[in-house]
This record gives sequence, structure tokens and C-alpha cells, in this order.
Amino acid sequence: MKYLILLLIVVGAIWWLRLQRKPKAPPAKPTGPQEMVACVHCGTHVPESEITQGAKGAYCSPAHRDSHEG
Ligand SMILES: [Zn+2]
Repeated sequence: MKYLILLLIVVGAIWWLRLQRKPKAPPAKPTGPQEMVACVHCGTHVPESEITQGAKGAYCSPAHRDSHEG
């Protein structure tokens, strides 16, 4: 019985320590690697958030979209 109580204390301590070490909340904005898209005109890879979308595909800049699509 004495060992059972000791075991309960140890298990309780481990459980308490795990509660103290709760993982921090994940960042609101995950900054993972961005999807890279190749410019249809010159082949330069640009992040998906910075592409210029054209009728025939994605471009690195409005200038390339204009010269490619006329
Ligand atoms: Zn380009």
C-alpha cells in the first residue's frame, strides 16, 4: 500500500510537470516556405503572393505580363 501511494505521487508529479510544460500556442501567422511560381515569360521563380496573374499564366511583373500577352 505504501508503494501504491508513492507511485501515485510520482505519477501525479509527472502529470503536473507535463502540465507546466504545455507547448506554446502556435503563431497566428505560420511563416513556412512559400509556394514558388515560375514566370511564364522569363522563368524567374517568385513567391505566390508576389506574382502578377495574367490570362496565360503567372508573371514576375506586370511588365512581363504585358510583353508576353501583348
Ligand atoms: Zn518574368
